[in-house]
Amino acid sequence: MSVTGLCEICEAPSVEHTCDRCGQLVCERHFDEDAGVCVECAAEIGQPDRPRQPDDEDMPDGVDTYEF
Ligand SMILES: [Zn+2]
Ligand SMILES: [Zn+2]
Repeated sequence: MSVTGLCEICEAPSVEHTCDRCGQLVCERHFDEDAGVCVECAAEIGQPDRPRQPDDEDMPDGVDTYEF
């Protein structure tokens, strides 16, 4: 199984992973091996043992729809 293309996040040519969640190609740096997803999905899913990035505040808390 070979993956060809550029990382869809940083455009690095060394793409080795495909996100199990969104399917985009990502390089080793942008792939969370524990979750098997890209870092973008990992941020959405939430990693309890991983502190949130300060600049990862595009989406305010409480925007989820389950409280609808
Ligand atoms: Zn990358
Ligand atoms: Zn993803």
